[in-house]
Amino acid sequence: MKREIHRLQVIMIVFLGVLSGMVLSACQGRIRDQHPGAVQVRIPMYSNNAYKLQTIELISIDDMRTLGGWAARFFLSPTLSRGKLVGMQPQINTIRTESGEYIATDSFSLQLLTLYAHMEKLTLLDDELGISRGDESREPRTVAIKVNMMSESGQPDSDNARYNGKLDAFLFAPYLREDLPLTVNAGVIAHEHFHSIFYKTVIQPLGDKYPGPDGNLHGNDQKLLKHFGFEEAASSENVGLLSERDIYHAVLLRGLNEGLADIWGWLYSDDTAFVRRSLPQVEESRTLSSGELKLKSTKELRAQAQAYHSWGNSNAVSYELGSQYGRILFASLNQFAGDPVKMKEMKKKMGQKINSALQKMTIHFQSLPGDEMMTTEFFLQQLQVEIPEVKIEYKAAK
Ligand SMILES: [Zn+2]
Repeated sequence: MKREIHRLQVIMIVFLGVLSGMVLSACQGRIRDQHPGAVQVRIPMYSNNAYKLQTIELISIDDMRTLGGWAARFFLSPTLSRGKLVGMQPQINTIRTESGEYIATDSFSLQLLTLYAHMEKLTLLDDELGISRGDESREPRTVAIKVNMMSESGQPDSDNARYNGKLDAFLFAPYLREDLPLTVNAGVIAHEHFHSIFYKTVIQPLGDKYPGPDGNLHGNDQKLLKHFGFEEAASSENVGLLSERDIYHAVLLRGLNEGLADIWGWLYSDDTAFVRRSLPQVEESRTLSSGELKLKSTKELRAQAQAYHSWGNSNAVSYELGSQYGRILFASLNQFAGDPVKMKEMKKKMGQKINSALQKMTIHFQSLPGDEMMTTEFFLQQLQVEIPEVKIEYKAAK
């Protein structure tokens, strides 16, 4: 894992060295007048098991200094006021090479430029897959960086990224490790992006019917940023109010959300081990290509969910279930690994079908009689109907 960051640092040093010997023009801030339309940027992107600097074209930036454009709006260490993030927009430093490429001149600028690029690409991927977020006007996504949040244990949070549906915002806590920053990690950014898709496809339509705390956050705005463990804190308080059936469904849906987010991370980045690239302490089970293709049975998950008294604990079960979904779907597509063209086609189709299967699952969930539970297999069965050309195989525990 360390190798990547060393590589990233080496790349930074090498390219800064190269720059010093080149004729450069400093970025003047507003670029729309000079360069309407696309700009070329040099940023670290994943390919062949490593991050390497690549020239990428961005089509949405109007202001290179503040990284203004339709893909993202950044906030630096924001606070929360009346349910909205408020704060400074960061500025970045770039230089332009003779050939017209923008290059960040410090690590912070490089991270932001890369994060912006991924937000643009993920929006374009949604378009390609026909996934609507319901904002055709292309409002920039809200992305908060160096967010001062509290972890569940009451410590300042770090090395963490989240999507918050209530704020419709991506929140990146400071990254203190020496591995690949989360803001540069294509798989992690796509994972968080998927949470926004799940929120709009499942959690929001279910509204009060969503069984977990994610659908019912109470609006103590200041508390949200002060205590980043807000969701956990709120749910621990509320867990007594949830029925056994609700707890089971909350663990199931959260597990599905996490597993599909991991698949999205891979569909977008091609990286099967993206979590560990930034967070090497995370269990091997988050690596999509490892382990057995097992799925917890409804009965097993029900027993496990029942045993938990607080959300903090049930997180682990959700992640474990999520990894099972992730590995099963990865293996189902990996059947095409020998045929890159077919693989690309099937990955795209999988992205589309995950979205439509989620819509159908949401309708099914809404119509469940009060004493029935949605099975752990339901989503996979629905997806299999949607995408018959991909064999979704696993061992379902009895
Ligand atoms: Zn997640």
